[in-house]
Amino acid sequence: MQAFTDTGAVGHYIDGQRTFGTGKQTQDIFNPATGKVARSLHIADTTDVETAIQAAKCAFPQWASTPPLRRARVMFRFLQLIQEHTNELAAMIVAEHGKVFSDAVGELARGIEIIEFACGIPQLLKGDYTEQVANGLDNWTVRQPLGVVAGITPFNFPAMVPCWMFPVALATGNCFILKPSPHDPSVSLRLAELLQEAGLPDGVFNVVQGNKEAVDTLLTHPDVAAISFVGSTPIAQSIYETGARHGKRVQALGGAKNHMVVLPDADMEHAANALIGSAFGAAGERCMAVSVAVLVGNAAEALLPVLTRRVKELKIAHGMDDQAEMGPVISQDALKRIQDYIAVGEQEGATLVVDGRQVDMPDEYQDGFFLGGSIFDHVKPTMRIYQEEIFGPVLACVRAQDIDEALHIINEHPFGNGVACFTRDGHTAREFGHRVQVGMVGINVPVPVPAAWHGFGGWKNSLFGDMHVYGEEGVRFYTRQKSIMQSWPKESGKGAEFHFPSN
Ligand code: NAD
Repeated sequence: MQAFTDTGAVGHYIDGQRTFGTGKQTQDIFNPATGKVARSLHIADTTDVETAIQAAKCAFPQWASTPPLRRARVMFRFLQLIQEHTNELAAMIVAEHGKVFSDAVGELARGIEIIEFACGIPQLLKGDYTEQVANGLDNWTVRQPLGVVAGITPFNFPAMVPCWMFPVALATGNCFILKPSPHDPSVSLRLAELLQEAGLPDGVFNVVQGNKEAVDTLLTHPDVAAISFVGSTPIAQSIYETGARHGKRVQALGGAKNHMVVLPDADMEHAANALIGSAFGAAGERCMAVSVAVLVGNAAEALLPVLTRRVKELKIAHGMDDQAEMGPVISQDALKRIQDYIAVGEQEGATLVVDGRQVDMPDEYQDGFFLGGSIFDHVKPTMRIYQEEIFGPVLACVRAQDIDEALHIINEHPFGNGVACFTRDGHTAREFGHRVQVGMVGINVPVPVPAAWHGFGGWKNSLFGDMHVYGEEGVRFYTRQKSIMQSWPKESGKGAEFHFPSN
């Protein structure tokens, strides 16, 4: 597979063209595997963002009135192009994010599912119609696009998370502005080019690179109707509050601390494999990664020895290495934050079963942001390593006596993104699914990311706003309902009526 080695500067994509804009600031983009600067990123200033908003606003009337079937045809062509370019896009993700190539392909595959969903937009936009709600009166509802909408996305899924948003937003007739993470921005520009190649008119999809200034412009601009955000909880909350204060529809997905309960009757080999993949895949930098194992009864005795051995054997390498199971974390800051959390866990009195802070790498990758897997046992719910999101390859094991205690622990946690329960007992599994206070639940499934037509979203501090991303909630988020009543009376009627109209 060909690595992505381009060293050119990365800019924006506005009104169908790549541009470096007017912003004077640039920022380094690192290769996390080598720790070296790979290229530079142009940061949008307010003028650049306003230019993108203006381009989207101009493109909106025509795109909104394009028949849904024609919009779907653009999505079908885009689907084909993204499938043809999957390896190229995955290599870009590896170069800037660091995840292993097969994982980058997997991220694209899950993004592609949302594009497939968006291809069905004519059916999804069908309204409701009631004939004869009163004599000679019909009533129907339609869903119409909002206008210019924006998506602000995190570093950990530079292709999939934007795909949670823009395929549905575009298919429903909106114009979109994407503000990707400055850590791994290159793939967003290729997506913009592929959309253009698929026949999307200029200005309908735009990309602005940047930080707070760019985001603040989107959040406060009167011509932006809605904001979709995915990232950490403090920023999600502030995006939700600022956007709502400026009259925008907002969905802001935040951080996570996902638990996996292992009951003593579980298939332990299946549970161990599931824990390894879910806690340490993508170096623990997935919003649905399991970061807490709740080991019930004597499950710990069966599971921990296997888990410990497997984590020590993890193959840590550059993401393009065929053998790699775990690549580097995103940045030097992330590496330090995770190492610091491991020190905090030790100070708090948890048992550090595997310490991944030191890892031997070949010379070329000595300065890369690599870290081994770590496991803590006997973690208590009061500890910071339990309460806070670490977002790295660190698994905290908590002991519980029974399923009730496990549920209590999980339901008390301020995050509620994903959760899993491993058991062979159907009744317990059903009770778990019913009682757990978390938005996405897996029964013997470690990473229960909902299918494209079901919608994604957590509870509690993992989501600010009412509507989940993609699926039918995504269609509702990017459209507003209009109700129309019609009457075609043959005669002019009985004159003015002053009572409230009723059937
Ligand atoms: P982040 O919150 O640092 O950044 C997310 C986006 O917000 C980026 O585009 C960033 O440039 C922008 N941003 C950062 N600081 C800002 C500020 N002060 N004002 C305005 N915009 C700002 O998140 P990250 O480190 O890129 O991603 C990791 C986080 O995302 C984790 O907390 C993870 O759990 C979360 N995440 C959640 C989900 C989910 O579905 N709930 C999915 C993926 C990632």
